[in-house]
Amino acid sequence: MIIVPEKEIGALMTREVAFDAVEKVFASMAKKSAYNFPVIREAIGHADALYGFKSGFDKTALNLGLKSGGYWPGNAANGITNHQSTIFLFDANTGKCRAVVGGNLLTALRTAAAAAVSVAHLSRKDSKVLGIIGAGHQASFQLRAVVEQRKFEKVIAWNRSPEKLDSLRKVADEIGLPFEIVTLKELGATSDVIVTITSSFDPILENLSVKLGTHIACMGTDTKGKQEIEASLMKRANLFTDEIAQSITIGECQHAISEGSITINDIIEIGAVINGTAVGRTTDSDITLFDGTGVGLQDLAVASSVVELAIERGVANQVEF
Ligand code: NAD
Repeated sequence: MIIVPEKEIGALMTREVAFDAVEKVFASMAKKSAYNFPVIREAIGHADALYGFKSGFDKTALNLGLKSGGYWPGNAANGITNHQSTIFLFDANTGKCRAVVGGNLLTALRTAAAAAVSVAHLSRKDSKVLGIIGAGHQASFQLRAVVEQRKFEKVIAWNRSPEKLDSLRKVADEIGLPFEIVTLKELGATSDVIVTITSSFDPILENLSVKLGTHIACMGTDTKGKQEIEASLMKRANLFTDEIAQSITIGECQHAISEGSITINDIIEIGAVINGTAVGRTTDSDITLFDGTGVGLQDLAVASSVVELAIERGVANQVEF
């Protein structure tokens, strides 16, 4: 069995490898050769923790396993990240444990890769202005990954607490792009691509503030009740997601679905666009919206890539198990 500890992931994994792994697994999901198992998430009644696991099997890549972890709100006070996760991979032929891989950095990289895949396949090729809503842990990963997909000339951003946007400004400076803090209305009216990455339970971005031709990657809503976009925007947009079952229950589409303003038939899995079996953007004036809910198969895909990289570079920790 191979162990790849959390501290080694940063030196092994790249955004390009994460993009490739996530794009392939979305394609495999749409072909029905990869599927996610039901997600478990429980308040364990200890340390105020939320614990769960996401698992699945990709028959094409032979990735079988699970990501286990959750949220321990008291961790930060002890210098440990509140979100904790570990990925376990199993040999699909024998069931033997193949690898244990740190899942914290990989979660951020695979989530950013999902938004980047959506931008690569759905945004206008001439997109110039990137708008980011949110400035938490995930936001800078999103900025770095998405900005690589188009020739962006400017980054604009909004966060509930504007002082937190300094972290995004630093990343934009590093990349060499102008950065501006704007109002939500300005962000909607100016952005060609918008990434929403907050943990809001109320709509933030108003439908009519979004201009025609925009691509929106909704990445923050991954739980029942969370919401970042006014549900009426769903009627104006062409809708895409990683997995329809999650999109309508825990993703951004859950609200328009429960209002009855859209149906399941209005949502297309992005893997079908990647495979060429569904149409993505049809005109420069379409609003495209990717509901990125985050699936266990993404975790397995990036963990498997990391294990391959560790073996290739001769740094894999092998243990008898
Ligand atoms: P974080 O706690 O570090 O940051 C939270 C962000 O949300 C901050 O910018 C905060 O200002 C903003 N926010 C919170 N409540 C808000 C409100 N009511 N109105 C406006 N803004 C509000 O969180 P993070 O780690 O950056 O994660 C952000 C979101 O992404 C979370 O909801 C998380 O569950 C989700 N997430 C999704 C995936 C996925 O695969 N889709 C993966 C990881 C995280």
